[in-house]
Amino acid sequence: MNTFEINKLNSNLIGIKSIVPDFLEIKNGTYGLGIFTKKSFKKGEIVYSTNCLVIPYDELNEEMKIRTNVGEFTISKYIHCCDDFLYGWDCFLNHNCNSNIKDLDDNVKDGQILFYSKIATRDIEEGDELLINYNHFCFDFDGIGIFNCNCGCVNCPGEIKGFKYLSKDNQMKIFEEISKEERKYFLEKLKENDI
Ligand SMILES: [Zn+2]
Repeated sequence: MNTFEINKLNSNLIGIKSIVPDFLEIKNGTYGLGIFTKKSFKKGEIVYSTNCLVIPYDELNEEMKIRTNVGEFTISKYIHCCDDFLYGWDCFLNHNCNSNIKDLDDNVKDGQILFYSKIATRDIEEGDELLINYNHFCFDFDGIGIFNCNCGCVNCPGEIKGFKYLSKDNQMKIFEEISKEERKYFLEKLKENDI
């Protein structure tokens, strides 16, 4: 199902159409706007499937509009986008080093559209916020990121700046947890960085 459409509304505003599944809601939580579930999931279960656009980061506007079935939001390139991936409604996923979802390794690219699914990494209760580890899908936050992660987990590095900034040991530890497309992207970037 194609849930993601992109249209240029005018020369400096990209509009995204993206459909939020009815069992999820976008609302304010501890970390600002986030994604919450209205039903529970067992560890290993698929939580949702959606798609994003693969587009050079430089081509994104500073502010973009995202139109969903639950309302219209303005998103910022610096807060809601990372690397060359422009996400739909799930750009509102917040970070936690002890995340409760991750990519299922099933992504398929069709032109510039990338289809992917997220699975539960532990049991998730109705009402919980869905949380991801930004280092799983962002290579380099380019100086933005999170300066002081207060997730409280034992492995928290404090600063979340992207995969590139993790120690080699930590890169290896999470490499199998990140999606196929991002693993490919990260490997290319690591190669470029080594030169
Ligand atoms: Zn943390």
